[in-house]
Formats: sequence, structure tokens, C-alpha cells
Amino acid sequence: MPIIGVVPSARMCDYEASMQRAGGELRVLDPMHDDPAGVVRDISGLLLTGGGDVHPQLFGEAPHETFVPAEPGRDEHEMALVTAAIDAGLPIFAICRGLQIMNVACGGSLVQDIPASIPGAVTHQVAMPKSAIAHEVWINRESLLWTILEERLEGEDTCSVNSRHHQSVKRIAPGFVVSATAPDGVIEAIERPDRAFCMGVQWHPENFWRTGEFRELFEGFLRAASERQRV
Ligand code: MN
Repeated sequence: MPIIGVVPSARMCDYEASMQRAGGELRVLDPMHDDPAGVVRDISGLLLTGGGDVHPQLFGEAPHETFVPAEPGRDEHEMALVTAAIDAGLPIFAICRGLQIMNVACGGSLVQDIPASIPGAVTHQVAMPKSAIAHEVWINRESLLWTILEERLEGEDTCSVNSRHHQSVKRIAPGFVVSATAPDGVIEAIERPDRAFCMGVQWHPENFWRTGEFRELFEGFLRAASERQRV
């Protein structure tokens, strides 16, 4: 069974349930004591979780008034983990804040606050219940995301997602492509086409483990992690 390293987040139970249902084992990483380069040698995949905002100084901006910091040390730990995982060719599945920190660690930037920056944006903050549908996304048919979800979507290229974010990708990191967008143009998923599985989604697929809407994403991530493990 592949061991997936997961960065700690305030609420881990849905990530754990989603990964367990897909057949993976999670190892919760330690931001204060882990050596990121050493960690990536011991795991077969990296799962980046949701949480507070990525600090704007990491992409050269002063924080907007709506900035909500993540736990101390979390930005630095995750930046180093992403860099080490990319260097090692490790599969990465990055969710919400995870997508954002992956984009910044790889040289991209973020919209700091969607309501302040994108007039007429749909609401990307629907707090409860966690699986409440907030908006549609359009999925790029050329993407791995599409390939993985195609059967479940029965050939459609839109799907409904939950949404709890006010940051989003502004400048996409070199090497990545956009794989899904919201109706207002907000980037909802990115991936690296040259990797077996290096994907970020802005919504929270882990909140659907009871009903399984995005189970294929966790299974695809684990498949990539298993294949890498065998090498
Ligand atoms: Mn959204």
C-alpha cells in the first residue's frame, strides 16, 4: 500500500476517509521537525490540504486587508515540500490552499481576494455544509482531470463543485496548464502535463467521500503513487 504524506490541516478526517476509501495509507507530516528532502524519499505521493491563506510576500505583494494567515511555519514547510516533491518526480495532489501553495512554490502568483479583484465573480465562499454545491466548473477536455472524471461526468465537460476560498491562481506557474475554470474565469484546477499526476483543484473533493463524486481523483492519485513505488 503506498504511503501518502499529508500536510496537517485543522480538519483531517475527510482527507483520511477519502484516502482510505481509495486504498491509501496517510502519514501526517510534521512542519516543525521534518526535513522535506528526507520526507519525499519515504513517501510515494504528497497530499497538500486546505487551510489559511498563502502569505502574499511569497509572490511579492503586500497582504490585502482580508488576509487570513495559515499556521506559523506552514507556508515555508509546504514550499520546501513542493520543491522537493517536484524534484523527486513524486505524484502531488493539491487541494484548495494546496493548489495555491503549489502554484506559488513553482513560480506563479495568486489573486489575493476574489471579491475585491474580480467584479461580478460568483460566490466562492459557501461554508456549510461542506459538500454544498457553490458553482459549476468547466473542465478542459485535453487534461488529465478530464480523463479521470470523464466516465463519471458521462461525457459532459462541466461539473458542480463546492467552494471555500477567496484566493485563486493569478499567474499560473511555468510548466502548468489550466484544467478547469469557474464561469467567472477563476482558475479552479491546474496540472503539469509532463507528470504522471501533479494536480491541484480549488474545490474540496475530500468532503464528498460519503457519496463518492470525486473518488476517482483520489484513486488516480494513488494509482500514480503505487506505480512510482514499484519503480
Ligand atoms: Mn471556487
